[in-house]
Amino acid sequence: MKIPMSSPDLTAAERQAVMEVINTPILSLGPRVVEFEKAFCEYTGAKYAVAVNSGTAGLHLCVRAAGIGAGDLVITTPFSFVASTNALLFENAIPIFVDVDPLTGNINPEQAVQAARDLAAGGKAARKWLPRKTPKASGKASVGKLKAILPVDVFGQPAEMDPLTDTARELGLTVIEDSCEAIGALYKGRKAGTFGDFGIFAFYPNKQMTTGEGGLVITDNERAANFMRALRNQGRAPGDTWLSHTYLGYNYRLDEMSAALGLAQMKRLDEMVSKRATVAGWYTECLAGIPGIEAPKVAASTTRMSWFVYVIRLAKELERGDLAKRLEARGVPVRPYFLPIHLQPYMQERFGYEAGDFPITEDLGERGVAVPFSGVMTREQVEYVCDALRQETSR
Ligand SMILES: *Cc1c(COP(=O)(O)O)cnc(C)c1O
Repeated sequence: MKIPMSSPDLTAAERQAVMEVINTPILSLGPRVVEFEKAFCEYTGAKYAVAVNSGTAGLHLCVRAAGIGAGDLVITTPFSFVASTNALLFENAIPIFVDVDPLTGNINPEQAVQAARDLAAGGKAARKWLPRKTPKASGKASVGKLKAILPVDVFGQPAEMDPLTDTARELGLTVIEDSCEAIGALYKGRKAGTFGDFGIFAFYPNKQMTTGEGGLVITDNERAANFMRALRNQGRAPGDTWLSHTYLGYNYRLDEMSAALGLAQMKRLDEMVSKRATVAGWYTECLAGIPGIEAPKVAASTTRMSWFVYVIRLAKELERGDLAKRLEARGVPVRPYFLPIHLQPYMQERFGYEAGDFPITEDLGERGVAVPFSGVMTREQVEYVCDALRQETSR
C-alpha cells in the first residue's frame, strides 16, 4: 500500500463549478470572487472579505493595511509555517518571537502579554525580547515601536485569543490572526479568524478546503478592506484605469476558476471538517498504547478542533530521521512538523538566532511528525499507518 501525505476532498459539484467558469469568457475579475467573498462574510459574520491568490498574500496585505513598516515590532510565534513571519519581513518589520504552549504548540499567552507590556514600556525591559541582531532599516532607527500581535492557529487549533485581544486593546495594538490552518475551528464557541482586526484563511490543496492556490482576509474595517482590494489589483484604487495605479500594489488576485471551486467547497465545509475529525479519531484510537508516541492534544478552550494535520510527538530515542526512512519504504510518508522559524538559515543570518533561544518550540520541532492525513482517508489506511508505526518504533 502507498498512502498519500494529504489529498483534497473533491466531488462532482466542484468539477461542475469549475467547468461552468471555463465555459464563459470571464476567468478573472468576475462574479465568482464576489460570491466567494460574500459566502465568507456570511460564514464568519465579518463585514468584509477580500479573496487573494494565497494565504501568504493575505497576510502581506494585512501587514500593509495595518501600517506595519520598517523596524516596527510585531509579537508572533516561531512555531508556525514560515509565511506568518515572512509577511512581516516583506515590509522589513521585526518579528518578536515568544515561545509556545507545550500542549497545543500555540503562542504562550502569558509570555506574549508580558512581551507586549515590556515592549510598550520600552527601555531595559523591552530589550530582552529583541533578537540579538536587528537589521538597519533604511532612513529610520533600526528598532521602531510595537505595532501588532500576530498569533497563529496551529494545526487547526485556535490560539488562546482572549488575553491577546485584551492586551492589544489596552495597548492600542493591531491583532492579525493567522487562521490559515484553522478554518471551521471554534474557540470558546466562536469561529477562528474572527478575533483579531484581521483574520486570514488559506486554501492550498492540503488545507481543510481548497481553491488550488488561494487565500482570503476577513475584517470589519472598511478602509482596510478597500485598501487591500486596491493592493491585490496592482494598486488600482476605485476609478483608476487599467494603467493607472494609486498605490504600490501586487497581483494577488484570485481567479474565477479558483473562486468557483472555493464556493463549492464552502458548501461542504462542515461535512469536510467532520470527516477530518472522524479520521483524527481513528488515529487517536489506533495509536493509543504505542510506546514513545504521543497523540495531539486539544485545549479546553478549543470547542471545535478543525484538523489540518495530525502531528504526533515521538520520544527522543526514536531517531526521527531513521524512522521516517523506514516508514517511507513501507509507503507511509511522514514529515517533521514544524521546523522552527528562528532556526531557518535566513532567520539566523538576519537576526542572529541560535539553538536554545525558544526551547519549547525546538522540542516540539525535534519530536513532531505529521502522518498522512485527509478527510478522504479510509479506516484501513489509518490502520495501515498505525501498524507501520507500531512495528517500526519497536525495532
Ligand atoms: C498554509 C499557511 C499559510 C498560507 O500558505 P499559502 O501557501 O501561501 O496559501 C500561512 N500561514 C500558515 C500558518 C499556514 O499553515
